[in-house]
Amino acid sequence: MGQTGNAMETADTRAGLRQRAATLRQRVTAAAERSGRHPDDITIVAVSKTVPVETLRAAYDLGFTTFGENRVQEAQGKIAAWGDATAPARWELIGHLQSNKAARAAELFARIQSVDSLHLAQALDARAAQRGQILPVLLEVNVAGEASKTGFAPDELLDVARALTSCRALRLEGLMTVAPLVADPEAVRPVFQRLRALRDELRHTLTAATDTGAWSHLSMGMTDDFEVAIEEGATIIRVGRGLFGSRPLATPAHTGKDQ
Ligand SMILES: *Cc1c(COP(=O)(O)O)cnc(C)c1O
Repeated sequence: MGQTGNAMETADTRAGLRQRAATLRQRVTAAAERSGRHPDDITIVAVSKTVPVETLRAAYDLGFTTFGENRVQEAQGKIAAWGDATAPARWELIGHLQSNKAARAAELFARIQSVDSLHLAQALDARAAQRGQILPVLLEVNVAGEASKTGFAPDELLDVARALTSCRALRLEGLMTVAPLVADPEAVRPVFQRLRALRDELRHTLTAATDTGAWSHLSMGMTDDFEVAIEEGATIIRVGRGLFGSRPLATPAHTGKDQ
């Protein structure tokens, strides 16, 4: 009976995942078309924190091949368990990273979206250089200046970005933000507009000094606000609950902290 129960639960989970995936894609497409954009220009990062590898395989089969994790240790276990060269998944770090875990993170992740200090950037650069790799990164911006969040302040961004042009092993691909938690997603539209303006400023000021693809990305928008983010130019959205369903309550969904 227990076996049958589990099997039924799994089938339910799969059907739910398929349904949410279809709805998510429809909403992304609609938001892109509303704003004169092509849906293919928006990457959906499936935020997989707390989600078991089995479910990630089901999501992968539905075409979600990039996973976003917010803790190095949890990601490391999943990446090891995934271990399938015939189904190569891409893993990105979206949560706060302590500098002492920079070496491990540089090995595990295809991109680090949550670079929130110069010290961390330099640690990642040193490690990537040692490994002879180029590591794509985004700078995290605390647009609304929330005390509970990490990220650079908007007014320090240009100086930080200038300082980072000496980091030869990092590719500065753009900016990331986690918008404040609000009831009406319209309330965070100005946050997304600000991030885009900051990115445009960096692109205009610094592009000559860096490689192509520099400052091309805006990672903004989550389950509750991705449509507004797409309308404001998001190239990457990070969706957890909207794909995998609700998470256990203990998870700090909006702090991005690596506890
Ligand atoms: C958890 C998390 C998300 C996804 O949140 P949902 O509301 O489940 O879509 C996105 N970005 C970061 C940094 C997160 O920690």
